[in-house]
Amino acid sequence: SFTAAIIGRPNVGKSTFFNRLVGKRLAIVSDTPGVTRDRREGNARVADLEFRIVDTAGFEDARDGELASRIQQQTERAVGAADVALFLIDARAGLTPIDEVLAAVLRRSAVPVILIANKCEGRAGQPGLLEAFRLGLGEPIPFSAAHGEGMGDLYDALREIADREPVADVPADDSGSDVEGTNGVTDAGDAGAPLQLAVVGRPNVGKSTLVNRLIGDERLVTGPEAGITRDAISIDWLHDGRRLRLIDTAGLRRRARINDALEELSVQDTLRAIRFAHVVAVVVDAVQGIEKQDLTIARMIAEEGRAPLLVANKWDLVADKDAIRRHLLEQAEASLPQLRGLRLVPLSALTGRGVERLLPAAVAVYDVWNSQIATSPLNRWLAVMLERHPPPAVEGRRLRLRYVTQTRSRPPTFVLFANRPAAIPESYIRYLANGLREAFDLDGIPLRLTLRGSR
Ligand code: GDP
Repeated sequence: SFTAAIIGRPNVGKSTFFNRLVGKRLAIVSDTPGVTRDRREGNARVADLEFRIVDTAGFEDARDGELASRIQQQTERAVGAADVALFLIDARAGLTPIDEVLAAVLRRSAVPVILIANKCEGRAGQPGLLEAFRLGLGEPIPFSAAHGEGMGDLYDALREIADREPVADVPADDSGSDVEGTNGVTDAGDAGAPLQLAVVGRPNVGKSTLVNRLIGDERLVTGPEAGITRDAISIDWLHDGRRLRLIDTAGLRRRARINDALEELSVQDTLRAIRFAHVVAVVVDAVQGIEKQDLTIARMIAEEGRAPLLVANKWDLVADKDAIRRHLLEQAEASLPQLRGLRLVPLSALTGRGVERLLPAAVAVYDVWNSQIATSPLNRWLAVMLERHPPPAVEGRRLRLRYVTQTRSRPPTFVLFANRPAAIPESYIRYLANGLREAFDLDGIPLRLTLRGSR
């Protein structure tokens, strides 16, 4: 199941919408703006879909000057706790400045948004419906909460969200919407959405050998052909009760261009594979060490917010394994601070030695990437950090960090509210980011830590 947050300015019909989905007269409905102030929650049902729905009101009574920032914060908090935002606008009234503010917050948030143009019964909603495209949140669903019109389209949009949920019981959205519908999604069982793994790296580091070895070994475990299906660019199977999908970069490459005579690292292909994936294994040649191009790939993974693994292949050729292991980890630590604690998987694709450790490592890093940390331990942690090392005073004024909350996962994303966010030194942000990693075991994945203003 998942949680949906209703977002919308006062009087767009949020209460009627809420009642329509929850089916009980829980909310007070009124034509006077600002009548409902409290956060309402209920179990919603649309056809066979059941989910949690939260309607957060409360900024209705804000004074004009602080309205925009209040709305921004309220919305961020509401959306941060949800898997999808149901954004209501009033199609009869058309777009207002508050709608624009809300839309801007939602566009940044990366939680999927379903745009609902309410009050669309009859023809009076037509202009507002067209205008709604301008918000940059996709196609609006024409809806009438009062008359119950538009439920079919709403169902389709919600169905997509429900189907996107990950394997583990971690509620999270999937920002990689580019993944859906790009290949024949093969149903390898009932273990939820697959963990998508890409294998990338420079030419000749052994990617193809590794992929073939991996599939070969998995075949031995799962029996000939059982559970393994492949199409042009992906291979699916069940591993330890979890669905896995291997994104075949070579397949992507072949599909992308016909002339494949000259093998060189294609940044475009690599980027595409990274975007398709949840977990990305960067294969390097253990003998050659981490090279400049390997770092470029790792940085792309960090920027795209994916979960990385460093695979040191050709481990059979390494004589002093301890020294090389240490050297690789030091190199990673020095050059990729944004992926602190990067997991190293030494293996030999050729002999097969160590290959069995790749998938458990992928699952482990995937789980970290899906981490959800509750707000109260986060704020207890923040208090300790502030105590241990208080933020500096800037221009004689103290910086105050008030509150931290995780707004999304995949990768874990945190928002920190401060009185003067722009004044906080980079070094202090690093101190907090590193502290977060340590306190909550968020090693080896990119983290997002953003600062927002609050009085
Ligand atoms: P790709 O371009 O990254 O797909 O690399 P390939 O899989 O084609 O491998 C490049 C070369 O490295 C081939 O000659 C492989 O046999 C060799 N190779 C791959 N993995 C290993 C390994 O674990 N150990 C050794 N010694 N050679 C390997």
